[in-house]
Formats: sequence, C-alpha cells, structure tokens
Amino acid sequence: MTETGFHDSEEGLACDGVPIARVADAEGTPIYVYAASVIRDRFRAFDDAFGAHPHAVHYALKANSTLAVLRLLQTLGAGADANSGGEIDVARRAGFLPSQIVFTGVGKRPDELAKAVSLGLKAINAESAGELARIDAIAVAEGKQANVALRVNPDIEAMSHPHISTGAHRNKFGVALGEAAAICREAAMRRGLRFAALHVHIGSQIEQVAPLRQAARAVVEVARALAADGIALDYVDMGGGVGIAYDDTGGLDLAEYASALLAEVAPSGLPLVLEPGRFVVGPAGVLLSRVVDVKTHPGGRTFVVLDAGMTECLRSALYGARHRIVPVTARVGTASGVDVVGPVCESSDSFGSDHQLPPLAVDDLVAILDTGAYGATMASNYNRRPMPAEALVDGGAWTLIRRRQTIDAMLAQES
Ligand SMILES: *Cc1c(COP(=O)(O)O)cnc(C)c1O
Repeated sequence: MTETGFHDSEEGLACDGVPIARVADAEGTPIYVYAASVIRDRFRAFDDAFGAHPHAVHYALKANSTLAVLRLLQTLGAGADANSGGEIDVARRAGFLPSQIVFTGVGKRPDELAKAVSLGLKAINAESAGELARIDAIAVAEGKQANVALRVNPDIEAMSHPHISTGAHRNKFGVALGEAAAICREAAMRRGLRFAALHVHIGSQIEQVAPLRQAARAVVEVARALAADGIALDYVDMGGGVGIAYDDTGGLDLAEYASALLAEVAPSGLPLVLEPGRFVVGPAGVLLSRVVDVKTHPGGRTFVVLDAGMTECLRSALYGARHRIVPVTARVGTASGVDVVGPVCESSDSFGSDHQLPPLAVDDLVAILDTGAYGATMASNYNRRPMPAEALVDGGAWTLIRRRQTIDAMLAQES
C-alpha cells in the first residue's frame, strides 16, 4: 500500500507516493503542493465527528479558495462559507449552489449584499442591526425575502493569537450578546427578512475547547429566548476556529470539540452549521522553496535565505506563526539552529529563528509544512513578486492547479 499524505520516500519527501521534488523540478519554486487524500480524510473526519446530529459543514473559503481545492470539497458534500462578493463568485464557479453558501463578513458593501439577496443564499450572516435593515431594504425593493442570521459577539477570549481572536467585546465582530435577542425580534418582523439562524465565530487556531463550548452555550441561550417568543430558528451556526498541530503538540482534539458542541446544542434540537477552514486544509499543503543564499554574520546568526517569503506565506510575518521546515532530500551533517528568511525587503519577512536544520546549500529544496490554510490565499504581489504556482496530488499523480503568475498578467490591469 502506498502511504497517503506527506511521507518520506527514497527520492525524499513525497506526497501520496509522488516525490515532490519532481513538482518543483517541473514547475519551479515557490510552489504549493496539496494532498487531495488529506483534504478528503480531514473533511470526512470533521463531518463524521458530528455523527447523526443534523448538521452541515460549510468550508470557509478564505483558508484556501483555489478552484480545484473547492471543487474537491464540493464533491465531498461541503457547503461554502464566503467572506466577500469575490468568494461568493468563486464558490459559484466551483459548483456550490446558492442554497449551499453562507455569507459572512464584518463590512459587506451594498453591491455584495445585493448579489447575496438576488442569488438567494442559504444565509447572510449579518453583523449589526444596521446591516439587517439594509438587507431588508434591498430585499423589499427586489420583492424578495432574504435568509439572514445574526452574528453574536459573546465576549469570550478564544485564547488564540490576538490577530485571530474575534469573539471579545473589543473586537469589531458581531453584536453584543445582550442586544442579540432584541435585534432578532425586530428583524423577524421585517418583510424582507427570513430570520434563519444565530451565528458565532470567536477566532481561529483555537486550541482549547472551553471557549468554544462557552460560545455555543451563549448562542443556544439566545435561541431558547427567541423560541419562547415564537421565533423558531432553522439552525445555529457555530463558525470555525478548530486549531491544528503545527508541531508535535498543540491543536484541538476533534472528538472533544464535537462532543462539547453537541452537549450544548443537541438538547435544543436545533441543527448545526459549522465553518471549518484551517482544520480541513492546513495540514494538506506544503510550500516548496529553494535556498538562494546561506550566510553567517561573524559571531552571529546563520541565515538560510529562501525564494519564498511573506509574499507567498504571510503567516509567520503577520502572526509569528511557526511552521516546521524540512529539507526535501535528506542532507547529511549535524543540525544547528538557523534563521530561515524570505527574500523580501522587510525584517519581518522571516520564518523564524532557531530552525534545527542540517547544513543546507544554495539550490537545496525545502518544504514549509502545514501551509495549506491561509497560505496561498494571503499571497501578495509586494516587491512585484508573482503569485506562486499550486499543484494538487491526487491518485498518485500531480497536476498544476494554478500557474505561476506572469508579469504580463500582473500588469494587465494597469495603464
Ligand atoms: C475565518 C472564518 C472561519 C474559518 O476559521 P478557521 O479557523 O479557518 O476554521 C469560519 N467562519 C468565519 C466567520 C470566519 O471568519
């Protein structure tokens, strides 16, 4: 049996039996390589964790929205969680039906709301009373009823990185818990709205179950109060945020997470919507990069300079995220602590210090692990660097799913 996912082989690091150096040799670097087998396994594991309780898994596009990845998830039965008009369009082109898309986001433009209303999405997750009123006005003008949910800010610390915590009072997201029921009651009376659900999402890369359970409890309490007023919800949407292990420790146990949410929600009888992003695709991708320079400052640090940096994978520069980095082909020699850095003119363009690596030479290929989520989607053209290429390994063969951007393509919008 061939191994699935990323594993060692005689030709170095491989993905589902395919030595990934071959992908870099053919397409150059930097390039993302994704394992379809890992995406499938993780999506199914997530879905299965909620067992027989009625639920829908709406994959959060912002983690990775490359078309081929979305098509794969769509065929597995995923729904979509879109965070912008652009993500709605991409979800539609990947085959998701409007009834399979929820639309979230703290600042939706009028044209984005109009698109969502006219498509008739499963729900627009509104972030304020004002937004509900604007959705109502659009729907009434179009002679439609829009399905809406209200995002609640439960004022809970997700105990994650401050940049990716979203459920505390100081954060910009949602409406205060104490105001939620009154806003829902008002919304339920509007002609243009069908009040479908309550929504909560307290952050990303959450590694403790307690805050997620607390958020679920808060939402279910509001749902109960609404039910007592005769406002029956279709479901409750508990967002995403499940943390993964970026090294040998960490991450959130899936079974523990699911049983905590079910313990809060099941007694209400309400179906669940979940919006995982990182959990599904994070461990399914690596970023392949070549060493372009190695140097040691006298009496100081050794820098391994890569041809990938914050422009291809922003996570380390933005959140101080620590990704394991491994040579694709085994290298002999004693490992020592080095700084692995990118080529961009920013000191924050670093994958961190003290990566224990054997001596590396210029042209060596390295893999930056667990970069399937918030990797390619956060890439930028800073320093006029082209968007990286992406490849998908499936069934023992790889295909290019996104060509490296050319300078012509980059300049096509400019005069
Ligand atoms: C980003 C986001 C998600 C996905 O978060 P993960 O941590 O990747 O699971 C889900 N829902 C909303 C509203 C989001 O903004």
